[in-house]
Amino acid sequence: MSPSIAVIGTGFGGLAAVIELKKQGFDDIVVFEKAADVGGVWRENTYPGAACDVPSPFYSFSFAPNPRWPRRFSRQPAILDYMREVADTFDVRRHVRFDTEVLGADYDDAAGTWSVELSTGETVVVDVLVSAVGQLSRPSYPDIPGRDSFSGPAFHSALWDHDVDLAGKRVAVIGTGASAVQFVPEIQPEVAELTLFQRSAPYIIPRPDRKFSDRHHKVFERVPATQLAERATWYGVVESLSVAWVHAKPLAAAIKAASKAHMKRQTKAKPGLFEKIWPDYPVGCKRILFSNNYLPALARPNVEVTTDAISEITPQGVRTADGVEHEVDVIIWGTGFKATEFLAPMSIKGPGGRELHDEWASGAHAFFGMTVPGFPNLLIMYGPNTNTGGGSIIYFLEAQARHLGDYVRHIASSGAPVAVRRDVEQAHDKRIQAKLGGSVWSQCTSWYRQEDGRITTNWPLLGLDYKNQAKFDPADYEVVSR
Ligand SMILES: Cc1cc2nc3c(=O)[nH]c(=O)nc-3n(C[C@H](O)[C@H](O)[C@H](O)COP(=O)(O)OP(=O)(O)OC[C@H]3O[C@@H](n4cnc5c(N)ncnc54)[C@H](O)[C@@H]3O)c2cc1C
Repeated sequence: MSPSIAVIGTGFGGLAAVIELKKQGFDDIVVFEKAADVGGVWRENTYPGAACDVPSPFYSFSFAPNPRWPRRFSRQPAILDYMREVADTFDVRRHVRFDTEVLGADYDDAAGTWSVELSTGETVVVDVLVSAVGQLSRPSYPDIPGRDSFSGPAFHSALWDHDVDLAGKRVAVIGTGASAVQFVPEIQPEVAELTLFQRSAPYIIPRPDRKFSDRHHKVFERVPATQLAERATWYGVVESLSVAWVHAKPLAAAIKAASKAHMKRQTKAKPGLFEKIWPDYPVGCKRILFSNNYLPALARPNVEVTTDAISEITPQGVRTADGVEHEVDVIIWGTGFKATEFLAPMSIKGPGGRELHDEWASGAHAFFGMTVPGFPNLLIMYGPNTNTGGGSIIYFLEAQARHLGDYVRHIASSGAPVAVRRDVEQAHDKRIQAKLGGSVWSQCTSWYRQEDGRITTNWPLLGLDYKNQAKFDPADYEVVSR
């Protein structure tokens, strides 16, 4: 049997899945992408300064090194170009139906197939369904009274409105996560006033960025080992961050000390600023951010950091709990994504019409983030507990793609639908949650955790552990009778 496969999404996850499937000889692949191009978050996030936080030689596919990265931490246009080039090189586009959103999928018990419901009104039937819709593709807004009452332009950083001219405007930025840290220094010089509403401050460490010159490009091209060495170095650095957050308190303490020195130095120009932006939770609990220009921007005279809670959005601006109304011309939401709502808003119904979201009622869980008991022939890329507190998601996606390829090969040879064994998945989840309980991520509120405290996003061990442990083993799976 040569299974037909549907993949949802063309971010790094969808690309990794399709490329691996093709490599393993499968060609009956259709990819649904709700947007008009490949790219995922790198197509969507066009805010000024958008860039990766993991150096490009490591934040890229191992099988498609790019000797021409413009910088060590490349910006969004270069990353999107890379993804387009990869899609072309590996002949992915031929399989993609753009502008086609998947609304849901139903498993047909008798046929052992998935009926995929599309926004075009069609239903497509396939043997295997692969979700690659990401964790960070749905912008999140805080539940603040009056949120829609503001009379001026307001937009989320992931939906940046480039038609709004910020020059000379009074701008409110709500949120201080990874995106705000990148766009605030870009817009600060042009706006008249910038009021930054901070609920919780990030730890910042220096960003070892650099431009890659023509000379670098030539060396990377002619001696590929040099680029491999750069990749390996950064792999080592981010793995040690993972160790710090979970196992090594002294290492975490050293990172905290380095962060404190950097943050103190960069805020010296404005008395009282350091006290406002020094975090009050253990280092590593939220993603630590690399930046050389965020804090100097906050220290400029046209920037005010407000730590008072926001009580409401008014037609004129933002009111804080102390009763002050901050009048502004534009509001920018830098408030992140609905990371813990995996696969939303799709409705995925397994055998007997069982909803995936019911299986996940007390929190998303899956075997190495990929397969769910009772849901045959369904595989999830960048699923529950496969995010990393410091590493490259692409490294994890490649491991998932390999699992997917072997999984489909198994189905192709046995001819029967398979699902992960419930006892196997439960033992995996118990082990992962126990590790997470002892990690630094359990010590504060963040996008890694859902409201009841369960951590559904992060993987608690090394990337290397994931790569080694997440290999496909038929013994972990059972045949689901039709
Ligand atoms: C601004 C930003 C910076 C980041 N920087 C880093 C970094 O430095 N290092 C790192 O490791 N990670 C980073 N990440 C995390 C990033 O999410 C992952 O690295 C990776 O890009 C995820 O790829 P993905 O394919 O899983 O998801 P996405 O990139 O989110 O792609 C999902 C795709 O699915 C499509 N889609 C969604 N729902 C449907 C549907 N129902 N029907 C059809 N199509 C659908 C979307 O349109 C999208 O194209 C960053 C994220 C953001 C937002």
